[in-house]
Amino acid sequence: MIKVNLTEVQKTIPSHVNLVAVSKTKPVSDIQEAYDAGQKVFGENKIQEMVSKYDALPKDIEWHMIGHLQRNKVKHMAHFVSLIHGVDSFKTLIEINKQAEKYSRIINCLLQAKIANEDSKFGLSFTEIETILNSNELKSLKNVHVSGLMGMSTFTDNKLQILNEFESLQRFYLKMHKTHPNLKILSMGMSGDYQLAIEKGSNMVRIGSSIFGVRNYNA
Ligand SMILES: *Cc1c(COP(=O)(O)O)cnc(C)c1O
Repeated sequence: MIKVNLTEVQKTIPSHVNLVAVSKTKPVSDIQEAYDAGQKVFGENKIQEMVSKYDALPKDIEWHMIGHLQRNKVKHMAHFVSLIHGVDSFKTLIEINKQAEKYSRIINCLLQAKIANEDSKFGLSFTEIETILNSNELKSLKNVHVSGLMGMSTFTDNKLQILNEFESLQRFYLKMHKTHPNLKILSMGMSGDYQLAIEKGSNMVRIGSSIFGVRNYNA
């Protein structure tokens, strides 16, 4: 445990919250180290990078795609991806369904809600999510399963703002859950804000730098 700070992070997360260890930009050896320490769920934000890590690592790892999706690349991960967090259009669901069908799989997806006050963040409005969830078209997609919602807060030191953003998604999630009990996952929280997210009902946190150290994009 020289490089990977997994157990320290695990201690801070209640048992009902699932931990996705975000390993983007990190080498296979770091992932193997976390795997050997018991972590089986990893998140990546680039499809190609996730595919090469999938090929190199034990096959009982659950791979989560957490980044913004390029539809033309979905086919590369359709045979193994276990959860796609960042679905932000119905067109993308159609493509995931089409690729999943080729492998006779049902791929779990989260719809990404835009809760941050930043143009740079992707996501659907609550109204758009509600429309998708209630649509007959969604029922016709037999190879995707919408199993929850995902959101990212604004990058800010203002805790109150972050709490308010997470709370807005929590409220919406609980409202949708009444009519769509299949929604089981609320994916909110990263290294800087996961405690706030858990306070606001997150049951899945995506943590990278607190486990693996800061990322060096130039490396
Ligand atoms: C990189 C990333 C994370 C993890 O970020 P850290 O701050 O390193 O914990 C979580 N979610 C998404 C969507 C990411 O792209």
